[in-house]
Amino acid sequence: MELINPRTFLIVANLLGLLCALVLWVQAKSFPADIGGLRDWARAVVLMGCASGLASLRGILPDAFAIVLAAALLLFGELLLVIGLLRYTGRTPQWRPALDAVLGLTLLVGWLTWGSPSYPGRIFIMSLAHIAFFSLGAWLARQAKPAGFGSRLLAATFVLGVIIAVLRIATLSTDFSDADEVFDRDLIQQVYLGAFSLGILGLSIGFILIANERLRDELEYLATRDPMTGAFNRRAFFARAEVEWARAARSKRPLAAIASDIDFFKKVNDTYGHHVGDLVIKDFARRSGSMLRLPDILARFGGEEFVILLPETGLKDACRVAERIRQEIEKRKDKALPPYTVSLGVAVASGDENDPADLEALLAQADAALYKAKQGGRNRVER
Ligand code: GH3
Ligand code: MG
Ligand code: MG
Repeated sequence: MELINPRTFLIVANLLGLLCALVLWVQAKSFPADIGGLRDWARAVVLMGCASGLASLRGILPDAFAIVLAAALLLFGELLLVIGLLRYTGRTPQWRPALDAVLGLTLLVGWLTWGSPSYPGRIFIMSLAHIAFFSLGAWLARQAKPAGFGSRLLAATFVLGVIIAVLRIATLSTDFSDADEVFDRDLIQQVYLGAFSLGILGLSIGFILIANERLRDELEYLATRDPMTGAFNRRAFFARAEVEWARAARSKRPLAAIASDIDFFKKVNDTYGHHVGDLVIKDFARRSGSMLRLPDILARFGGEEFVILLPETGLKDACRVAERIRQEIEKRKDKALPPYTVSLGVAVASGDENDPADLEALLAQADAALYKAKQGGRNRVER
Protein backbone atom coordinates (compact mmCIF):
# COMPACT_ATOMS: atom_id res chain seq x y z
CA MET A 1 0.00 0.00 0.00
CA GLU A 2 1.25 3.43 -0.79
CA LEU A 3 2.13 5.52 2.23
CA ILE A 4 1.34 8.78 0.49
CA ASN A 5 -0.36 9.08 -2.81
CA PRO A 6 1.72 11.66 -4.73
CA ARG A 7 -1.38 13.28 -6.14
CA THR A 8 -3.03 13.67 -2.74
CA PHE A 9 0.21 15.02 -1.36
CA LEU A 10 0.36 17.55 -4.16
CA ILE A 11 -3.20 18.72 -3.56
CA VAL A 12 -2.55 19.19 0.17
CA ALA A 13 0.73 21.03 -0.46
CA ASN A 14 -0.96 23.32 -2.97
CA LEU A 15 -3.85 24.07 -0.61
CA LEU A 16 -1.34 25.01 2.08
CA GLY A 17 0.39 27.19 -0.50
CA LEU A 18 -2.90 28.97 -1.20
CA LEU A 19 -3.30 29.61 2.53
CA CYS A 20 0.17 31.15 2.58
CA ALA A 21 -0.79 33.30 -0.40
CA LEU A 22 -3.77 34.51 1.61
CA VAL A 23 -1.52 35.42 4.54
CA LEU A 24 0.86 37.25 2.17
CA TRP A 25 -2.09 39.13 0.70
CA VAL A 26 -3.37 40.16 4.13
CA GLN A 27 0.15 41.30 5.05
CA ALA A 28 0.34 43.31 1.82
CA LYS A 29 -2.90 45.06 2.77
CA SER A 30 -1.99 45.87 6.36
CA PHE A 31 1.78 46.37 6.33
CA PRO A 32 3.45 49.73 5.63
CA ALA A 33 3.80 50.41 1.89
CA ASP A 34 7.60 50.49 2.09
CA ILE A 35 7.63 46.72 2.73
CA GLY A 36 7.26 45.89 -0.97
CA GLY A 37 6.87 42.65 -2.88
CA LEU A 38 4.21 40.96 -0.74
CA ARG A 39 1.54 41.21 -3.45
CA ASP A 40 3.94 39.83 -6.06
CA TRP A 41 4.66 36.89 -3.79
CA ALA A 42 0.99 36.21 -3.10
CA ARG A 43 0.35 36.15 -6.86
CA ALA A 44 3.45 34.05 -7.48
CA VAL A 45 2.39 31.41 -4.98
CA VAL A 46 -1.09 31.17 -6.53
CA LEU A 47 0.31 30.94 -10.07
CA MET A 48 2.85 28.30 -9.14
CA GLY A 49 0.23 26.32 -7.23
CA CYS A 50 -2.01 26.39 -10.32
CA ALA A 51 0.95 25.37 -12.46
CA SER A 52 1.78 22.36 -10.35
CA GLY A 53 -1.94 21.44 -10.22
CA LEU A 54 -2.17 21.59 -14.02
CA ALA A 55 1.05 19.62 -14.45
CA SER A 56 -0.20 16.90 -12.10
CA LEU A 57 -3.22 16.40 -14.39
CA ARG A 58 -1.09 15.42 -17.34
CA GLY A 59 -2.78 12.78 -19.45
CA ILE A 60 -6.17 13.95 -18.17
CA LEU A 61 -5.98 17.51 -19.48
CA PRO A 62 -4.83 18.39 -23.01
CA ASP A 63 -1.10 19.11 -23.33
CA ALA A 64 -1.82 22.76 -24.02
CA PHE A 65 -2.91 23.09 -20.37
CA ALA A 66 -0.93 20.40 -18.59
CA ILE A 67 2.38 21.21 -20.27
CA VAL A 68 2.50 24.57 -22.01
CA LEU A 69 0.19 26.64 -19.82
CA ALA A 70 1.66 24.99 -16.71
CA ALA A 71 5.16 25.93 -17.86
CA ALA A 72 4.08 29.51 -18.59
CA LEU A 73 2.41 29.92 -15.17
CA LEU A 74 5.39 28.37 -13.43
CA LEU A 75 7.89 30.62 -15.18
CA PHE A 76 5.79 33.71 -14.59
CA GLY A 77 5.37 32.73 -10.94
CA GLU A 78 9.12 32.36 -10.53
CA LEU A 79 9.62 35.69 -12.23
CA LEU A 80 7.19 37.24 -9.74
CA LEU A 81 9.19 35.76 -6.85
CA VAL A 82 12.27 37.55 -8.11
CA ILE A 83 10.35 40.75 -8.86
CA GLY A 84 8.86 40.66 -5.35
CA LEU A 85 12.29 40.24 -3.78
CA LEU A 86 13.63 43.09 -5.90
CA ARG A 87 10.84 45.32 -4.61
CA TYR A 88 11.35 44.09 -1.05
CA THR A 89 15.02 45.03 -1.23
CA GLY A 90 14.07 48.49 -2.51
CA ARG A 91 14.92 48.04 -6.17
CA THR A 92 12.79 48.89 -9.19
CA PRO A 93 12.30 45.78 -11.33
CA GLN A 94 12.72 45.79 -15.12
CA TRP A 95 9.63 43.99 -16.46
CA ARG A 96 10.23 44.05 -20.19
CA PRO A 97 13.32 41.83 -20.67
CA ALA A 98 12.06 39.40 -18.02
CA LEU A 99 8.65 39.04 -19.66
CA ASP A 100 10.33 38.53 -23.05
CA ALA A 101 12.44 35.76 -21.55
CA VAL A 102 9.38 34.06 -20.02
CA LEU A 103 7.50 34.31 -23.31
CA GLY A 104 10.48 32.96 -25.27
CA LEU A 105 10.86 30.00 -22.90
CA THR A 106 7.13 29.26 -23.13
CA LEU A 107 7.30 29.24 -26.92
CA LEU A 108 10.28 26.91 -26.71
CA VAL A 109 8.34 24.54 -24.45
CA GLY A 110 5.45 24.71 -26.94
CA TRP A 111 7.84 23.81 -29.75
CA LEU A 112 9.20 20.88 -27.74
CA THR A 113 5.59 19.71 -27.17
CA TRP A 114 4.12 19.97 -30.66
CA GLY A 115 6.84 20.98 -33.13
CA SER A 116 9.58 18.57 -32.24
CA PRO A 117 8.29 16.73 -29.16
CA SER A 118 10.98 16.01 -26.60
CA TYR A 119 10.30 15.31 -22.96
CA PRO A 120 13.98 15.56 -21.90
CA GLY A 121 14.29 18.75 -23.94
CA ARG A 122 11.44 20.35 -22.01
CA ILE A 123 12.79 19.20 -18.66
CA PHE A 124 16.21 20.55 -19.62
CA ILE A 125 14.87 23.98 -20.60
CA MET A 126 12.64 24.28 -17.53
CA SER A 127 15.40 23.14 -15.18
CA LEU A 128 17.77 25.74 -16.62
CA ALA A 129 15.09 28.39 -16.02
CA HIS A 130 14.59 27.17 -12.42
CA ILE A 131 18.34 27.35 -11.85
CA ALA A 132 18.46 30.93 -13.15
CA PHE A 133 15.44 32.21 -11.18
CA PHE A 134 16.30 30.37 -7.97
CA SER A 135 19.95 31.45 -8.02
CA LEU A 136 18.85 35.04 -8.42
CA GLY A 137 16.30 34.47 -5.64
CA ALA A 138 18.93 33.04 -3.28
CA TRP A 139 21.25 35.94 -3.98
CA LEU A 140 18.52 38.52 -3.32
CA ALA A 141 17.28 36.69 -0.22
CA ARG A 142 20.75 36.82 1.30
CA GLN A 143 20.72 40.60 0.93
CA ALA A 144 17.19 41.06 2.24
CA LYS A 145 17.00 42.88 5.57
CA PRO A 146 16.67 42.02 8.39
CA ALA A 147 19.17 39.18 8.11
CA GLY A 148 17.23 36.88 10.41
CA PHE A 149 15.62 33.47 10.18
CA GLY A 150 13.27 34.49 7.35
CA SER A 151 16.13 35.57 5.12
CA ARG A 152 18.04 32.35 5.84
CA LEU A 153 15.00 30.14 5.22
CA LEU A 154 14.36 31.90 1.92
CA ALA A 155 17.94 31.61 0.74
CA ALA A 156 18.19 27.96 1.83
CA THR A 157 14.96 27.02 0.05
CA PHE A 158 16.09 28.73 -3.14
CA VAL A 159 19.44 26.93 -2.98
CA LEU A 160 17.61 23.64 -2.44
CA GLY A 161 15.57 24.45 -5.55
CA VAL A 162 18.76 24.99 -7.53
CA ILE A 163 20.17 21.68 -6.29
CA ILE A 164 16.98 19.80 -7.23
CA ALA A 165 16.97 21.38 -10.70
CA VAL A 166 20.63 20.42 -11.20
CA LEU A 167 19.83 16.86 -10.09
CA ARG A 168 16.90 16.81 -12.48
CA ILE A 169 19.21 17.62 -15.38
CA ALA A 170 21.83 15.15 -14.15
CA THR A 171 19.30 12.29 -13.94
CA LEU A 172 17.78 13.08 -17.34
CA SER A 173 20.20 10.85 -19.23
CA THR A 174 19.43 7.89 -16.95
CA ASP A 175 15.71 7.83 -17.70
CA PHE A 176 16.19 8.80 -21.29
CA SER A 177 13.51 7.39 -23.56
CA ASP A 178 11.36 9.10 -26.11
CA ALA A 179 7.85 7.99 -25.22
CA ASP A 180 6.03 10.61 -23.16
CA GLU A 181 3.74 8.19 -21.34
CA VAL A 182 6.15 5.99 -19.44
CA PHE A 183 4.69 5.32 -16.00
CA ASP A 184 7.98 5.58 -14.08
CA ARG A 185 8.65 8.91 -15.57
CA ASP A 186 5.21 10.05 -14.55
CA LEU A 187 5.98 9.01 -10.99
CA ILE A 188 9.32 10.84 -11.04
CA GLN A 189 7.53 13.88 -12.35
CA GLN A 190 4.97 13.66 -9.52
CA VAL A 191 7.73 13.41 -6.95
CA TYR A 192 9.45 16.45 -8.39
CA LEU A 193 6.16 18.32 -8.43
CA GLY A 194 5.63 17.41 -4.79
CA ALA A 195 9.10 18.64 -3.88
CA PHE A 196 8.35 21.76 -5.84
CA SER A 197 5.09 22.45 -3.99
CA LEU A 198 6.87 21.91 -0.67
CA GLY A 199 9.50 24.38 -1.85
CA ILE A 200 6.83 26.96 -2.60
CA LEU A 201 5.55 26.46 0.95
CA GLY A 202 9.04 26.99 2.37
CA LEU A 203 9.47 30.11 0.29
CA SER A 204 6.11 31.60 1.29
CA ILE A 205 6.74 30.97 4.96
CA GLY A 206 10.20 32.50 4.61
CA PHE A 207 8.75 35.59 3.00
CA ILE A 208 5.97 35.89 5.57
CA LEU A 209 8.59 35.66 8.32
CA ILE A 210 11.01 38.15 6.84
CA ALA A 211 8.22 40.67 6.27
CA ASN A 212 7.17 40.25 9.91
CA GLU A 213 10.73 40.70 11.11
CA ARG A 214 11.00 43.86 9.03
CA LEU A 215 7.71 45.18 10.43
CA ARG A 216 8.92 44.48 13.95
CA ASP A 217 12.13 46.44 13.26
CA GLU A 218 10.20 49.36 11.80
CA LEU A 219 7.77 49.47 14.72
CA GLU A 220 10.63 49.33 17.17
CA TYR A 221 12.30 52.18 15.33
CA LEU A 222 9.11 54.26 15.46
CA ALA A 223 8.60 53.51 19.13
CA THR A 224 12.12 54.45 20.17
CA ARG A 225 12.90 57.43 17.93
CA ASP A 226 12.01 61.06 17.75
CA PRO A 227 10.25 61.25 14.36
CA MET A 228 11.79 64.58 13.39
CA THR A 229 15.48 63.84 13.96
CA GLY A 230 15.73 60.05 14.26
CA ALA A 231 17.51 60.51 17.60
CA PHE A 232 16.29 58.33 20.49
CA ASN A 233 13.29 59.61 22.41
CA ARG A 234 13.34 60.10 26.18
CA ARG A 235 11.81 56.74 27.01
CA ALA A 236 14.22 54.77 24.81
CA PHE A 237 17.10 56.85 26.16
CA PHE A 238 16.31 55.93 29.76
CA ALA A 239 15.81 52.26 28.91
CA ARG A 240 19.27 52.15 27.35
CA ALA A 241 20.89 54.50 29.83
CA GLU A 242 19.82 52.39 32.82
CA VAL A 243 21.52 49.40 31.23
CA GLU A 244 24.68 51.44 30.65
CA TRP A 245 24.58 52.74 34.22
CA ALA A 246 24.39 49.23 35.60
CA ARG A 247 27.13 48.05 33.27
CA ALA A 248 29.39 50.97 34.25
CA ALA A 249 28.79 50.36 37.96
CA ARG A 250 29.59 46.65 37.62
CA SER A 251 32.68 47.08 35.46
CA LYS A 252 33.83 50.20 37.36
CA ARG A 253 34.16 52.05 34.07
CA PRO A 254 33.28 55.75 33.73
CA LEU A 255 30.03 56.87 32.13
CA ALA A 256 29.70 60.39 30.72
CA ALA A 257 26.70 62.53 29.86
CA ILE A 258 26.58 65.67 27.74
CA ALA A 259 23.58 68.00 27.89
CA SER A 260 23.27 70.40 24.97
CA ASP A 261 20.97 73.26 24.05
CA ILE A 262 21.08 75.45 20.95
CA ASP A 263 21.80 79.10 21.72
CA PHE A 264 19.19 81.82 21.18
CA PHE A 265 16.99 79.39 19.39
CA LYS A 266 13.88 81.50 19.93
CA LYS A 267 15.54 84.11 17.76
CA VAL A 268 16.03 81.55 14.95
CA ASN A 269 12.32 80.76 15.12
CA ASP A 270 11.31 84.41 15.31
CA THR A 271 13.60 85.56 12.48
CA TYR A 272 13.36 82.69 10.01
CA GLY A 273 10.18 80.91 11.04
CA HIS A 274 9.38 77.64 12.72
CA HIS A 275 10.20 75.60 9.62
CA VAL A 276 13.80 76.82 9.48
CA GLY A 277 13.95 76.24 13.25
CA ASP A 278 13.05 72.61 12.60
CA LEU A 279 15.74 72.35 9.93
CA VAL A 280 18.29 73.69 12.39
CA ILE A 281 17.27 71.07 14.96
CA LYS A 282 17.61 68.31 12.35
CA ASP A 283 20.96 69.71 11.24
CA PHE A 284 22.19 69.65 14.81
CA ALA A 285 21.05 66.05 15.36
CA ARG A 286 22.67 64.88 12.13
CA ARG A 287 25.99 66.63 12.59
CA SER A 288 26.45 65.95 16.27
CA GLY A 289 25.31 62.34 15.76
CA SER A 290 27.93 61.85 13.07
CA MET A 291 30.66 62.72 15.56
CA LEU A 292 29.72 59.93 17.99
CA ARG A 293 30.83 56.32 18.29
CA LEU A 294 28.49 53.38 17.87
CA PRO A 295 27.77 52.76 21.60
CA ASP A 296 27.05 56.45 22.27
CA ILE A 297 23.39 57.32 22.71
CA LEU A 298 22.01 60.56 21.29
CA ALA A 299 18.53 61.49 22.49
CA ARG A 300 16.25 64.44 21.92
CA PHE A 301 14.85 65.52 25.26
CA GLY A 302 12.59 68.20 23.83
CA GLY A 303 12.73 71.30 21.64
CA GLU A 304 16.37 71.93 20.78
CA GLU A 305 17.75 70.06 23.80
CA PHE A 306 19.70 66.87 23.29
CA VAL A 307 21.46 64.55 25.71
CA ILE A 308 24.35 62.28 24.77
CA LEU A 309 25.41 59.33 26.87
CA LEU A 310 28.98 58.11 26.37
CA PRO A 311 29.74 54.68 27.83
CA GLU A 312 33.29 53.98 29.00
CA THR A 313 34.26 57.60 28.62
CA GLY A 314 36.10 59.68 31.24
CA LEU A 315 35.77 63.41 31.87
CA LYS A 316 38.65 64.47 29.62
CA ASP A 317 37.43 62.50 26.62
CA ALA A 318 33.81 63.57 27.13
CA CYS A 319 34.88 67.23 27.22
CA ARG A 320 36.85 66.65 24.04
CA VAL A 321 33.77 65.17 22.32
CA ALA A 322 31.63 68.10 23.49
CA GLU A 323 34.19 70.61 22.27
CA ARG A 324 34.40 68.87 18.89
CA ILE A 325 30.63 69.09 18.55
CA ARG A 326 30.66 72.78 19.54
CA GLN A 327 33.32 73.57 16.92
CA GLU A 328 31.57 71.52 14.24
CA ILE A 329 28.25 73.30 14.82
CA GLU A 330 29.94 76.71 14.84
CA LYS A 331 31.16 76.07 11.30
CA ARG A 332 28.35 76.95 9.00
CA LYS A 333 28.18 73.92 6.67
CA ASP A 334 24.74 74.33 5.14
CA LYS A 335 24.41 77.78 3.59
CA ALA A 336 20.64 77.40 3.43
CA LEU A 337 20.54 77.51 7.24
CA PRO A 338 21.30 80.49 9.47
CA PRO A 339 24.50 80.25 11.53
CA TYR A 340 23.93 78.99 15.05
CA THR A 341 25.88 77.82 18.07
CA VAL A 342 25.37 75.35 20.87
CA SER A 343 26.21 75.24 24.57
CA LEU A 344 27.15 71.95 26.22
CA GLY A 345 27.50 70.69 29.79
CA VAL A 346 29.50 67.60 30.68
CA ALA A 347 29.22 65.31 33.69
CA VAL A 348 30.86 61.98 34.49
CA ALA A 349 30.27 59.12 36.90
CA SER A 350 33.48 57.21 37.44
CA GLY A 351 32.80 55.42 40.70
CA ASP A 352 34.37 58.10 42.94
CA GLU A 353 32.78 58.95 46.29
CA ASN A 354 31.46 62.37 45.33
CA ASP A 355 30.19 61.25 41.93
CA PRO A 356 26.50 61.34 41.04
CA ALA A 357 24.67 58.56 42.85
CA ASP A 358 22.36 57.58 40.01
CA LEU A 359 21.47 58.31 36.42
CA GLU A 360 19.12 61.16 37.36
CA ALA A 361 21.89 62.80 39.35
CA LEU A 362 24.33 62.42 36.47
CA LEU A 363 21.91 64.13 34.08
CA ALA A 364 21.15 66.84 36.63
CA GLN A 365 24.88 67.52 36.90
CA ALA A 366 25.22 67.74 33.11
CA ASP A 367 22.25 70.14 33.11
CA ALA A 368 23.90 72.28 35.76
CA ALA A 369 27.06 72.42 33.65
CA LEU A 370 24.97 73.43 30.65
CA TYR A 371 23.41 76.22 32.70
CA LYS A 372 26.90 77.38 33.59
CA ALA A 373 27.84 77.42 29.88
CA LYS A 374 24.77 79.55 29.12
CA GLN A 375 25.62 81.92 31.98
CA GLY A 376 29.23 82.10 30.83
CA GLY A 377 28.23 83.54 27.46
CA ARG A 378 27.00 80.49 25.43
CA ASN A 379 28.77 78.69 22.55
CA ARG A 380 30.99 76.93 25.07
CA VAL A 381 31.56 73.71 26.99
CA GLU A 382 31.42 73.55 30.81
CA ARG A 383 31.67 70.76 33.33
P1 GH3 B 1 19.14 79.91 25.14
O1 GH3 B 1 20.38 80.32 24.45
O2 GH3 B 1 19.07 80.39 26.55
O3 GH3 B 1 18.89 78.46 25.06
O4 GH3 B 1 17.98 80.67 24.39
P2 GH3 B 1 16.82 80.00 23.56
O5 GH3 B 1 16.16 81.07 22.77
O6 GH3 B 1 17.35 78.85 22.79
O7 GH3 B 1 15.88 79.55 24.73
P3 GH3 B 1 15.19 78.16 24.87
O8 GH3 B 1 16.18 77.08 24.84
O9 GH3 B 1 14.36 78.22 26.12
O10 GH3 B 1 14.24 78.14 23.62
C1 GH3 B 1 13.59 77.02 23.17
C2 GH3 B 1 12.68 77.38 22.05
O11 GH3 B 1 12.59 76.35 21.14
C3 GH3 B 1 11.30 77.68 22.51
C4 GH3 B 1 10.39 76.94 21.56
O12 GH3 B 1 9.51 77.82 20.91
C5 GH3 B 1 11.32 76.39 20.54
N1 GH3 B 1 10.97 75.02 20.15
C6 GH3 B 1 10.70 73.97 20.94
N2 GH3 B 1 10.47 72.86 20.20
C7 GH3 B 1 10.61 73.23 18.91
C8 GH3 B 1 10.49 72.52 17.66
O13 GH3 B 1 10.26 71.32 17.59
N3 GH3 B 1 10.71 73.22 16.51
C9 GH3 B 1 11.01 74.56 16.54
N4 GH3 B 1 11.20 75.18 15.37
N5 GH3 B 1 11.09 75.25 17.69
C10 GH3 B 1 10.91 74.59 18.85
MG1 MG C 1 18.16 77.15 23.60
MG1 MG D 1 16.00 74.94 25.24
